[in-house]
Parts: sequence; structure tokens; C-alpha cells
Amino acid sequence: MPTSRTYLSSPTTLNANCFNFSGGPGALPESVLKETQRAIRQVPGQELSVLGMSHRSPWFRNVVDEAEANIRELLRVPADYRVLFLQGGGTLQFSMVPISFLRGTGRVAEYLHTGYWSGKAIDEARREGQVRVLWSGENGGFRHLPGEDELRFDSKAAYLHYVANETVEGLQFHRLQGVEGVPRICDMSSDFLSRPFDVSRFGMVYAHAQKNLGPAGVTVVLVHDDMLRRIPDNLPSMLDYRTHAEAGSIYNTAPVFAIYVTMLVTRWLREEIGGVEQMQVVNAAKAARLYATIDQSDGFYRGHAASKDRSLMNVAFRLPSEELEKKFLELAKIAGFHGLAGHRSLGGVRASIYNAVTLEAVESLCEFMEFFGNSHRAEIV
Ligand code: PMP
Repeated sequence: MPTSRTYLSSPTTLNANCFNFSGGPGALPESVLKETQRAIRQVPGQELSVLGMSHRSPWFRNVVDEAEANIRELLRVPADYRVLFLQGGGTLQFSMVPISFLRGTGRVAEYLHTGYWSGKAIDEARREGQVRVLWSGENGGFRHLPGEDELRFDSKAAYLHYVANETVEGLQFHRLQGVEGVPRICDMSSDFLSRPFDVSRFGMVYAHAQKNLGPAGVTVVLVHDDMLRRIPDNLPSMLDYRTHAEAGSIYNTAPVFAIYVTMLVTRWLREEIGGVEQMQVVNAAKAARLYATIDQSDGFYRGHAASKDRSLMNVAFRLPSEELEKKFLELAKIAGFHGLAGHRSLGGVRASIYNAVTLEAVESLCEFMEFFGNSHRAEIV
């Protein structure tokens, strides 16, 4: 672990994986990396590498079943929801959702436009049917989320879609959106399993793995049985949630490796962390430390998001000039902190502090930020 003295002098002593602040693919827990390393040579109890295991093997069926059981336990998923492991990332869900629940219905789907990723979801939905953007933060540069009194939900909408955590801007909803009677469909790609939530209030939830869950290549979907009944009958098999529900997520060659690592991460969450409630406590402490560093920097660091809507997962901030930001990112890299550059659409700096980023790693980053701020404050004119 670097200290304020060591991080500039001995970067080679660091395990880089512990200091991965990337927006995704992100950090994975040390114990999961070790187990994965072993399984790449030979899966415990099996003869082969995980990379060569058949998706039709009884071993893989057990892996999928355990991943599902762990997610069900961690989130207390009700029995009338399916837990699916799909491919195509969050982006395919932007299309599968309106193809399944909007196309041909003659109804309107409501979307909240709260940042970069919800914008992408809206673009795809518009190809399939009528979309009403209930609220957009675009003119304000996506710095805050809508207040309760700003939204008039339509009780006849086909569904409401929103993004729980805007990964680019670092904005996170801290309360449920929508009205009863209209299915909520939520992209939780960047905060799934980082905190508890009541699954029964959603028609569907989806999250790709490469932030809190595992490597890229698999997307988890929780979908209520009533939603499956709404799907039109003529869809291509791969785009039909029912295909995957009936096949227990092994319809075609499933991403064995990605699902295996996701299973290990869910096991880690249960056994080492002690559940999503515990995870939330740790995540809140990490975020509090980082935002305090920003807030106590006398304006040297400026957070992008309004305080009330700050994300516990992605902390986007600016420095006094682009030149200083460049210098900060260069020095941070030398000091062993990875993945801190802001998203290409926004610039600046973004520290993503997903589940596997430890409080100690955040502490080190904060010390670095304090050091950098103190060293360069005098340069501001
Ligand atoms: N939704 C959110 C909230 C995201 O952060 C991202 C990507 N980071 C996506 C969707 C797109 O996911 P993918 O790259 O897996 O298609």
C-alpha cells in the first residue's frame, strides 16, 4: 500500500490491480483474481482450463446455477423473477428492451435523460416506437438528477426506463423512480450489487458485469414473469428473453469464462464481504472519503455532480486547468493509480470506486490528491 511518501518513489512495489480506478472493465477482488489464475491452468476438481471447459458440461451448469443462487440470495430476488446471463453488453439491452416491450404496442415508453448512457438507450428506443423523454439534464450539462416534483409520470406508459447510476457523469439515483402500474426498467450496469434494492419494484433490471460483477462478456438480467408474457412471438431467438429463460442461460455457447468469474465475485460478496448491505457500508465510506477530499481542497478539485445526486461509484471532477489535469493524470499513473482519465465525452478526472476497490486504495488516492493539490495550489492565478 503506498503512503504519501512512497507513492512517488516506489511505484514498482504496488500491485497495480489494487489501484484500478477505471470506469470499466474495473477492479476485481484479489482472491477472485487468484482463484481465476488457478482456474486458467486447471479448474479445481476438473482436468481442464476454464478457458476450454464445455458450456454443456455439468460443471458449467453448476457454475450458472451457483451464480444465479448467489444473486438471488444477495438481493432476495422473488421467485417470480428470472435471472438471466446474456451477451451483447448493456448496449444490446438498449435495443432488446424496446423490441420486447414497445415495438408494436401503440403505446409510449418514458425515458429519463440523465447522462451519456441514458442518451444511448433513448436513441435505440426511438428506432422501435414512440418515446417520451420525461426529463433531460442535457442543457445543464448533466450535473444533477430530476427532483420528485419535476416529474409527471404517465400511468399508461408501456414502461419507464432509467439509468440508476450514470457512469460518465457520476450521478446516482438515491430513490426509486416511476409510478405503480408502469413497469420500471432500470440499467444498473454501474451500481448493481453495490447496495441493496427492492427487486419487486422493477419489471426488469439489467447490468453488464464489467464494473462490479466480473469481466466483460456477460450481462445479468432480472425480469419478472409478467414481462416475459408481453414479448411478441416473432422475434429472433437470440433477442427473445424467453429463449434464454427456457434454456437456463445456456441456449448457445455461453461466455463460460465471464460467467465463471462472475460466479466467483458473487461468492466473494456473500462469503468475504457478507452481503450487499455490508458492501454498501464500505462503498459509502469510500465515497465519503473521496468527496471530502474534493470538498476540502479549497476549490482546487471541483466535483461534476450536484452534492445531492453524487454517485457512490463514479466520482467525476475537474482541476483548475486542463494543463493541471494532464499533469495530475501523468503523475497519478507514475504513482501507480490506473484508469483515472475522465470519459472521452466529458474529460477531466474520474475515479471509479466499484466494489473491489478497497477503502485503503481510496485512502491512498486521497493522499495523492492532497499531495498534488498542496504542491500545485500556488500555481493557480
Ligand atoms: N450502461 C451503463 C450505465 C454503462 O456505464 C455502460 C458502459 N460503461 C453501458 C450501459 C454500455 O455497456 P456495454 O459497453 O457493455 O455495452
